[in-house]
Amino acid sequence: MTFRFRDYKDHNKSKLMTVDALEFIRRFLLHILPDRFVRIRHYGILSNRNRKTKLKECKKILGVIIESGQEKEEKETWEELLFKLTGVNHTICPSCSKGKMIRKIKLEPRCYSPPKLKVQIA
Ligand SMILES: [Zn+2]
Repeated sequence: MTFRFRDYKDHNKSKLMTVDALEFIRRFLLHILPDRFVRIRHYGILSNRNRKTKLKECKKILGVIIESGQEKEEKETWEELLFKLTGVNHTICPSCSKGKMIRKIKLEPRCYSPPKLKVQIA
């Protein structure tokens, strides 16, 4: 049995893996929780209960919050943010992975709405 998976360790690349049916079922069953168990996505300072209070406190300790209460703005470029979120570096050439991509022109958005019809009643 061959299936597609995402390798998070290798820059989130999509890969194929072949295993026998028994091994596939074993791996699949690892994702099923026992009865009455729930999966927790965030815990500690990031849990829903603490997010507003504890996270704010942590930011204050780390010096992210200015005394007036406003958070410092650290401007990230969209490339930095995209790299942080997806692990894909869009400034590197996708075919050779060596060259650096440079923006030559900015593409303006196009309008695909149908042309307006003029109706004349004589
Ligand atoms: Zn290239």
